[in-house]
Amino acid sequence: MLNQIAEKISDVTGQPFTISNQKSVGGGCINRGTAISDGDRSYFVKFNSASQVEMFEAEYLGLKQMHETHTIRVPQPLCCGVVDSNSYIVMEWLEFGRGDSNVWAEMGHQLAQLHRYQGSEQFGWDRNNTIGSTPQMNPWTENWSDFFAEHRIGYQLKLAKRRGGSYPSTETVVERVRELLRDRTPQPSLLHGDLWSGNAACTVDGEPVILDPATYWGDREADIAMTELFGGFPAAFYRGYNKEWELDGGYKQRKSLYNLYHVLNHFNLFGGGYGSQASRMIDQIM
Ligand code: ADP
Repeated sequence: MLNQIAEKISDVTGQPFTISNQKSVGGGCINRGTAISDGDRSYFVKFNSASQVEMFEAEYLGLKQMHETHTIRVPQPLCCGVVDSNSYIVMEWLEFGRGDSNVWAEMGHQLAQLHRYQGSEQFGWDRNNTIGSTPQMNPWTENWSDFFAEHRIGYQLKLAKRRGGSYPSTETVVERVRELLRDRTPQPSLLHGDLWSGNAACTVDGEPVILDPATYWGDREADIAMTELFGGFPAAFYRGYNKEWELDGGYKQRKSLYNLYHVLNHFNLFGGGYGSQASRMIDQIM
């Protein structure tokens, strides 16, 4: 199978590529990772079952779009597809190092530049993608409050109820979220979409990188909120971000609303205490 992928890499790059080294790479939440090299060029390949090819197509498209903004580094994607019973995505291999506060400040600065980048008048994306392995719906929508209320909270809440969670009626919660965001009319920003610390890294050369996105056009505050969900990024990150594009004063009130999406998703993916955490967050907004 890897040899067929090597052929594809040769086609896409126009340079013959024959694998001389390979090693498996751990740390992924969803997929199996492998590093492949011909001794000169190296690539990172992620695999899943063939049925998951759309997930990799969306990751490919998201990385490509983010890469083309020339704002913050993401692994450059090469190709994706199906070989035998597996789907795969190939991207450039990056050697990671340890970031200091300068790198974190630069990451904040560059993320703000990504968020400033203009390319859509609407919220949503060209296709649906996944957040973890949960489907993420991205129909083009003019209004941010409608988009977030229906396609983020409403969608996850329906799944959470199917999983046995006990929450107020979906319509009531969706209406409340819509109301809370009614006056929020942000510029659509290209978001990473799943920006927890496991998806933020630094190359050995000290360049910030963000990985494994769940891209869509949305409110930039949703990306920043997620960085704060599991303990927060270093303070330098927020200093770098605010220096480039200061967050609105109302962000602190909206943060928990934006993170409700991820907490519901964690309940849908992992169950356990995320269900009651979501319940408390819903109580707070109702
Ligand atoms: P998953 O989709 O399964 O969550 P990730 O994209 O998060 O997988 O990748 C899993 C791990 O592989 C990351 O935590 C990181 O250590 C490593 N990794 C991801 N992308 C690259 C890359 N382009 N080059 C080198 N290592 C990578």
